[in-house]
Amino acid sequence: MIPGKSNSVHIRDIRLPDVQDKEVLVKVRLVGLDGTDREINEGLYGEAPKGEDFLVIGHESLGMVERVGSGVSSLRKGDMVVCTVRRPDDCINCRAGEFDLCLDGNYIERGIKGHHGILSEYYSEDERFLVKVPEVLGDVAVLLEPVSVAEKAIRTAFAVQERMRWEPKTAMVTGTGVLGLITAMLLKIRSFDVVSVDRSDNAYKDMIFKEAGIIHFNTGNINLHDIPASLGRPIDLIIEETGSSSVALHSMMVVGNNGVVVLTSITGGDKKMEICSDCFNQGLVLGNRTVVGSVNAHGRDFDRGIKDLLDIQERWPGILEKLITAKYPPEKVGEAFDKMESNIKVVIDFGGNER
Ligand code: BGC
Ligand code: ZN
Repeated sequence: MIPGKSNSVHIRDIRLPDVQDKEVLVKVRLVGLDGTDREINEGLYGEAPKGEDFLVIGHESLGMVERVGSGVSSLRKGDMVVCTVRRPDDCINCRAGEFDLCLDGNYIERGIKGHHGILSEYYSEDERFLVKVPEVLGDVAVLLEPVSVAEKAIRTAFAVQERMRWEPKTAMVTGTGVLGLITAMLLKIRSFDVVSVDRSDNAYKDMIFKEAGIIHFNTGNINLHDIPASLGRPIDLIIEETGSSSVALHSMMVVGNNGVVVLTSITGGDKKMEICSDCFNQGLVLGNRTVVGSVNAHGRDFDRGIKDLLDIQERWPGILEKLITAKYPPEKVGEAFDKMESNIKVVIDFGGNER
């Protein structure tokens, strides 16, 4: 990609990476595409590494360790690994290992901001930034990076709610992209009643909702603000994952008293909307409502993500595979981008599989 330039996705030859002592060479198997990649391809987001004019994208991956440097102790050839995204700067949070909470904003992110990603046949990485995944997860381990983002959002909600006695029952997830569907499942295994909201009816997704016991609302048929009344109970937690800043603002007015809204959408544009600022402010104040932004994930979110993916696999066998709806070989990456809209998760398959 050429950051800042729309529709700039292309294929090029790059050098096979060097492998330092503490590094591992990984042979890439699968790379997932997400809304952030799409924003980069629309020229709205993303940054090339210093001194270069292009960015190798890709930050959701699954690969196999091909070779390890002489100082590597935690990984071996043949291990399946997922690469984490963010690398620290030297702010207080990054120094404490919490790069996902970077204070100064000079972090870099593989495939997104100032660091090449992994949509390439091989990449190398320090062992500290790789997460070993159990083989039983198979291809769905490529979902671990988005899962980690959802895990952090949920963890953040519970951390914020330490401010009070909180016995949440009902959660709403806005957006039914892969992140929304995964978040809904993660909340189900935490015993929430889960409501998923989007703007359409889709028979394929209905099958997933039914299997996982998720209630679905189409905002083409019901206003977001009317959903709590229609359910007959307040919403205790909203996780916003539509990619739409206006849905994000409305969510803050829909959450119940003492509730929490976690915002996760990356919205690189400059959309504007008019709001009743008095009503908006009043609602947050009188209802002790909280809104919190959440981005990226900590290593512990990847660890919890592995555990929860295994739980989901056991509870609804095959459901995670249903989220990967299209596979394209790397030479068809342009087509893969075009087909994102009509798919749940599009992945690039370096094994040459297409479906
Ligand atoms: C990635 C995160 C990243 C964020 C912001 C998301 O798509 O999953 O890891 O921090 O974009 O760049
Ligand atoms: Zn930092």
